[in-house]
Amino acid sequence: MYFIDVILPIPLKQSFTYEVNKDEALFLQPGMRVAVPFGKSKIFTGIVFTIHKNAPIGYETKPIDHILDKSPIITKTQLKHWQWMASYYMCTLGEVMRAALPNAFLLESETIIALLSNKPQDESKFSDDEFLVYEALQHQSSLHINDIRSILDRKNVVSVINKLLEKRIIGVKEELYEKYVPKIKRYIKLSSAYSSEENLKGLLETMSRAPKQRQVLMTLFMLSAQERKPIDSILFQKKSESSSTVLKKLIEKEILEEYFIQKDRIEYKGTASSEIKKLNEVQEKVLQTIKALFKNKDITLLHGITSSGKTEIYVHLIEEILSSGKQVLYMLPEIALTTQLISRLQQYFAEKMSVYHSKYSVNERVEVWKNVLESKSKAQIIIGARSSLFLPFSNLGLIIVDEEHEPSFKQFSPAPRYHARDSAVVLAKLHGAKVLMGSATPSLESYSNAKTEKYGLVTLKKRFGNVLLPEIELVDIKEKYRKKKMTGHFSDRLLEEIKLSLENNEQIILFQNRRGFSPVIECTTCGISPQCPNCDVSLTYHQYKNELRCHYCGHHMPMLISCVACGNETLDNKGFGTEQIESELKEMFPDSTIARMDQDTTRRKHAYAKLIEALENHETDILVGTQMLAKGLDFRNISLVGVMNADNLLNFPDFRAHERSFQLLQQVAGRAGRTKKRGKVIIQTFNPDHQILQQVSTNSYEEMFEQQLEDRYQFKYPPHFRIIKISFRDRNFSKLQKASIWFGQALKTKLKNNVLGPEAPPVGRIRNLFITNILIKIPKDQSLSKTKGFIESIKRSFNSIKEFSSVKLVIDVDNY
Ligand code: ADP
Ligand code: ZN
Repeated sequence: MYFIDVILPIPLKQSFTYEVNKDEALFLQPGMRVAVPFGKSKIFTGIVFTIHKNAPIGYETKPIDHILDKSPIITKTQLKHWQWMASYYMCTLGEVMRAALPNAFLLESETIIALLSNKPQDESKFSDDEFLVYEALQHQSSLHINDIRSILDRKNVVSVINKLLEKRIIGVKEELYEKYVPKIKRYIKLSSAYSSEENLKGLLETMSRAPKQRQVLMTLFMLSAQERKPIDSILFQKKSESSSTVLKKLIEKEILEEYFIQKDRIEYKGTASSEIKKLNEVQEKVLQTIKALFKNKDITLLHGITSSGKTEIYVHLIEEILSSGKQVLYMLPEIALTTQLISRLQQYFAEKMSVYHSKYSVNERVEVWKNVLESKSKAQIIIGARSSLFLPFSNLGLIIVDEEHEPSFKQFSPAPRYHARDSAVVLAKLHGAKVLMGSATPSLESYSNAKTEKYGLVTLKKRFGNVLLPEIELVDIKEKYRKKKMTGHFSDRLLEEIKLSLENNEQIILFQNRRGFSPVIECTTCGISPQCPNCDVSLTYHQYKNELRCHYCGHHMPMLISCVACGNETLDNKGFGTEQIESELKEMFPDSTIARMDQDTTRRKHAYAKLIEALENHETDILVGTQMLAKGLDFRNISLVGVMNADNLLNFPDFRAHERSFQLLQQVAGRAGRTKKRGKVIIQTFNPDHQILQQVSTNSYEEMFEQQLEDRYQFKYPPHFRIIKISFRDRNFSKLQKASIWFGQALKTKLKNNVLGPEAPPVGRIRNLFITNILIKIPKDQSLSKTKGFIESIKRSFNSIKEFSSVKLVIDVDNY
């Protein structure tokens, strides 16, 4: 007997064992996909993990359904990386598999039923339920089990289906299908009947009375002469200024022919169009230092201020790795993956580069995956967001983690709750590759790793071309309000600078952070704000749709006219958001073009790119936005950056609030004056003496670092301590209390005072589930793996307590 252990895409603690015959055992390799039965009627796609001869204890194995691959689609290195991830982040291999594989690799299993014949049946032989199903199938050729559940309005429908099966009224098919559909493109060419000159002449003559069709033909000749490659039908239609009906007519007349070619979805035109820029002296020195450090260190941190030319340094390093025949992964936070940066890199690397991005379709991602797996030349450099580290690299030489301080490298939900920067370090180790982290404002963790010489450190303190860092001015709005020098949310200083910039025909970015945004509605009579019925938060006002929305569960309703509590029509906006800034600006500067960039305006696929393009082309004078504006954008003509209110950043209830505020404000400020002229930054605040704001205004990263590091030590936070967070959720508040207190006490038996809570988070109920958290702080000298093992053992006991079975439990390792 032969067996295989299979990873299934569900949160099972172990892999599952199936039996295979000898031929299958000889053929199969770890990393191949197999379709396997699971439970009563399910079929899953699983990944072969091991092949062996040991029957599992405790259950009888089933044979596999069939083998889906000819060769592994997951490499051995990937399987090792998955194992590390599952163990470090305390989740299952199945959960890692779900995150790692593009969905299209996971076959779907849906039980579908259909009528066996169209002959009318004698209705008297059906029970009521059976008849309902039969009737539904008259209207629809097939139904899923789930459809039948809702038709019959009950859960267990199997017996009804079985009866109909026995009576040979219906048939069941378990359908498996690959979701990946290769993209087919339509092309146009001249019908071969007209390939001789003579016939062609005749054709053109007959067309003298159909000028539109004639024009189409002429364009086709021109294009085929110019391009010497297949002519894309959509492009052709545009160029010939014709309609699809004209094309169709020509095809019907057999003058034109259409034909189809399967296309890779992601293609880049042409070859590299720009030479790599020559580095200046400072950059060159940095590059040499990085290379020297790489001789002894696997990881190096490049601390270079905004616009110091880090990207150009990466480009040089990438070039060298590529020429040694190795692959490069260039990781960026999702939000910084702009067309701007991508097209800049494309100019250098053109067809050697592929992009892997969650905004891309499943099919596009499958293509990149396959290209990387086959080490195709167009997949030598991958640029992507956090999930790109799951690609099947074969010989990775370098990982660049740009903007390494960015919080979006961490996945919070669902599991695996991994940090892409830290996981990249492990991935690099498995490949024997180097890691270069870059940031203008490194995270405290990375910078302290560099300071303690765990990482190499290189610093770049000058902007490219010696452009000065912008001048940062703090404006005390408490005083401005008192002296009546505020117009709406704008101080007189900010307005003066806006006017000046507009007069000089320069552009402006205004920043209002999302988190503190919440334009909460409050009744000025009784002081009550409308609350979300499902969550413990106030609803926020969205002017554009005139509705109230919950940012946690999406609940929404039309804006109220009168207060729900006292009935008076005295509801008023408190707080303010990007929308309000935008409308105030439009009133004050009716002649300027004002645009807004936030989650609401960038939902659609190209919306973000369009806003940036409009700014680049100077179609926008003022752009108002959230932290989306802070990341990696390089604009030529921004002379002024305004921060509407720095305080809600600083007051955010999180141990990193100060570090994050510093990073965000420095990054936003970095958008100003990137060319010759020195930029200006105005930060409005109620608290201009705050140490972080002082440090921002004087660009004192080091000082910020030392001070925060000291604070973190005092309060037992990273990088001095590690943190594991355990969250509990339940509908029933007292059960939740009981369960979490039980868990906390069990932890305290060993971990003593380093267990904090259970405690309710700032928003204590979401989607009708109450929430409470336990934090575990782990000192440097305490074994991490032993601590995790201890937590696991408590979790097992917890799971065996029946009373707590409804409580949802989530473990988040390094929850920051
Ligand atoms: P960073 O990544 O540190 O923010 P960039 O690499 O984007 O900085 O550089 C800032 C600007 O300076 C960019 O417009 C870039 O093209 C330009 N630049 C940087 N280095 C060079 C160089 N060696 N030669 C010419 N232009 C450069
Ligand atoms: Zn809600």
